[in-house]
Amino acid sequence: MKTLLLFAAAAVVGALAWGFTTGAQAVPARSVSRRVEVDSAWSATLSGDPTAATAAFLARVPADVRARGDAFGNTRYIALLGRVAVLAGTIAILMFSGAAIGMRDLARRITSRVPLQDAIVAVQTLAAFFLLSLPIETYAGFVRVHHAGFSRMSYATWLGDAVLSWAVAVPFFAVGVVAIYALIRRRPQSWMVWATGVYALLTAVFILLMPQFIAPLFNTIAPMADGPQKQAILSLARANGVPANDVFVQNASRQSELLNAHVTGFGGTAQIVLDDNTITKTPDAEVRLVMAHEIGHYVLAHVAKGIVFDTLLTALGFLFVGWGATRLISRFGDRWGVSGLRDVGAFPVFWGLLMLWGFLALPLSNGIAREQEAEADMFGINASQSPLGLAEFMIRDADAGQLDPSPLVESVFYNHPSPRNRIFRAMRWRAEHQKP
Ligand SMILES: [Zn+2]
Repeated sequence: MKTLLLFAAAAVVGALAWGFTTGAQAVPARSVSRRVEVDSAWSATLSGDPTAATAAFLARVPADVRARGDAFGNTRYIALLGRVAVLAGTIAILMFSGAAIGMRDLARRITSRVPLQDAIVAVQTLAAFFLLSLPIETYAGFVRVHHAGFSRMSYATWLGDAVLSWAVAVPFFAVGVVAIYALIRRRPQSWMVWATGVYALLTAVFILLMPQFIAPLFNTIAPMADGPQKQAILSLARANGVPANDVFVQNASRQSELLNAHVTGFGGTAQIVLDDNTITKTPDAEVRLVMAHEIGHYVLAHVAKGIVFDTLLTALGFLFVGWGATRLISRFGDRWGVSGLRDVGAFPVFWGLLMLWGFLALPLSNGIAREQEAEADMFGINASQSPLGLAEFMIRDADAGQLDPSPLVESVFYNHPSPRNRIFRAMRWRAEHQKP
């Protein structure tokens, strides 16, 4: 336990030092204009050839902005490698230092009830993972965003949010761990199947609670101010069979300057939420396209389908955990002092491998997400009849990532099609609709 506490203390001190020193530096200015503005004459003379029109849009991004986007895009690989390394390190520290069995034995001293023991071990382990990953999460979520000029949030506020989202997730994880460990002991061969059901149920409850109970812990979400823009969006929603009587706006500028919107919840709790940045920084025509894209996510039931896909991927994840943990425990079990997966003293191995699966499965999960985004783009263009709106919107935050990554990079790391591909599809739609 002493080794773990030393590592955790070092991680926390390092993260706080890194975060607060970064936070004390001024947020660098982004280029004022991230694209060359044009008038309607430019659009009127835009080539009818999709490839040429796409190139014309990309050419409006100044070279320095493009270089900043590429550089920022590269930091995500560092973040990913760092996260995987920290995950492996955390498993090793917890298991080889004896901290994992220390946590188990502490839980046994507190209570004789096995489900409670499992829950206590889960909370301790999740706290250890959180603390040890604080430096890499500080880099991924705060330092690189601050250096790129995308956020004016203080480190203290960022850290407060990180602790809060951990605290919100922990009860769900603890319930899941108690249920899944009971299954591992009762059904040692087929627990993965039942665990998948537990995962689906907990995820559905979490997403159901998201709009009304979880999102408001982090942002203020309020109905959009009445006016012609809101009426136009509601009209678009009605035209596409969405029974919405309100449009919501969240103060996303609290966390980031980047432009976005999203759909949360499902069934009766679903909300289409527009970020305040998007309203204040983009013209009405582009806001309309963004909302048409979000209405597409809603109409195509992407949140509910997302839970299904996510559950299927997690089922594979449980197979991976079962396979990996059995091998690791048979190799190191004696040194670790754990007898098998059913021993909650090996929970860090279970949890670490499940998290690792999340990274290994990125090509699959991102592939599914990209497919849904491409569908929402098509829906949005058809509903708004505005391919130019999509193309314009795609070159607004041109410093926030690579506009035209290689197909390999796109397939592994992108949860949206690349801006180049999204513009190209919009231009292809335009070309086909211009044909007499
Ligand atoms: Zn989308």
